Amino acid sequence: IFITFEGGDGAGKTTQAELLSAWFIAQGREVVRTREPGGTPLGVEVRRLLLHGGEEIGAVDPRAEALLYAADRAQHVATVVRPALARGAIVVQDRYIDSSLAYQGAGRVLDVAEVRGLSEWAVEGLWPTLTVLLDLDPTLAAERRTARGGNADRLEAEAETFHRAVRDGFLALADAEPERYLVLDAALPFGELHAAIAARVSLLTNL
Ligand code: C5P
Ligand code: MG
Repeated sequence: IFITFEGGDGAGKTTQAELLSAWFIAQGREVVRTREPGGTPLGVEVRRLLLHGGEEIGAVDPRAEALLYAADRAQHVATVVRPALARGAIVVQDRYIDSSLAYQGAGRVLDVAEVRGLSEWAVEGLWPTLTVLLDLDPTLAAERRTARGGNADRLEAEAETFHRAVRDGFLALADAEPERYLVLDAALPFGELHAAIAARVSLLTNL
């Protein structure tokens, strides 16, 4: 079972992924808790360059950016995700292909179908069983980021119009694939969100 968490920066993905992992572990399941970008040693370097490269790399061309996320993802799926799924572990992950479709596609205005093609090639067509979208108004998300000490990286500091395009991109993806997606209002208390996620996960037939 492969479960991914998506949503804007500050939506609470990491908190919910941790709670869901603990929920599985309490049932005696093996959980691989991971993230993109940065779920492998190679990915850690890609992440550092993309998010904290600063002056060292200057402005990143949108296609170069899309390829770097795809490279991070290829390495991660090949060396972490597929081996985990093959031995029956549950993979609980922050961000996946949908982030590329929303950020590099909707956000950067690359063609979403092309970014999808690139991503599917990178992972040889592996899609998650379930994707939880923690949907949050960008204004609220920005307030949350300020409360936790400011924008953590280059992307978080993008203009609000960028974050709005990303949010709309995620919502469009969820609309198109209601069976894979669980969309939740990230402004709800975290305990309520976790209960809703656990309820949906319980319905997965291959548990
Ligand atoms: O907050 P998180 O740990 O998910 O950091 C990843 C950062 O990379 C976020 O700021 C997100 O906006 C950005 N990102 C992106 N495109 C992706 C994945 C992540 O712009 N495909
Ligand atoms: Mg972030």
